[in-house]
Amino acid sequence: MMGRTHAIIGLLTALVLFPFFDIHWALFIPLVVLASYLPDVDHENSKINRVIPLTRLVPKFFKHRGFFHSAFPPLLIYLIAWHYGYLHIGIPITIGYLSHLISDSLTKLGCNFLHPISNFRISGFVTTGGKMEYLVFAGAAILSLLVTARALGILHL
Ligand SMILES: [Zn+2]
Repeated sequence: MMGRTHAIIGLLTALVLFPFFDIHWALFIPLVVLASYLPDVDHENSKINRVIPLTRLVPKFFKHRGFFHSAFPPLLIYLIAWHYGYLHIGIPITIGYLSHLISDSLTKLGCNFLHPISNFRISGFVTTGGKMEYLVFAGAAILSLLVTARALGILHL
C-alpha cells in the first residue's frame, strides 16, 4: 500500500482508539500516524526512506514485507517502552505500526505476521496503487472526518 493510504488508515485508527487511552490526543494521534509509515523502512522507494535517508540501509539487509512487516518489531517497541516507562509513546507507536500491518493484509501480497518463524500470510484483494486502494483511502478519509465531527460535537450519531 502507498504511504498516504497507511497514513489515513493510521489517522482513522488513532481517532477511533484515543478515547480508550489516558494519553493526550495531541501526542497520541501524530505518533500513530507517523508510526504507520514505519514498517516500509524495508522498501527502497517508500515515503519514509525518501524522507529519512538513514533508514535506506534497511532494505539492503531485510527483504520487503519480511521481518519489518511481522508482529515482532511492534512487540519489541512496546516492551522497550514498557521497560523504560515510556508507554505513553510506545502505545501509539505500536498501534500505528500494527495499523500498517493490518492494512497491508488487505493487499494481494499480504502480510506475514510471524516472519521468519512461519510462512503464514494473511492477504486480501487490494492491488497496491490500484482502484481498490483509492477506495480504501477515500473510505478511511470520510470515516476520519465523520469521527472527528462527532468528537467535536458537530455531528450527533
Ligand atoms: Zn508495508
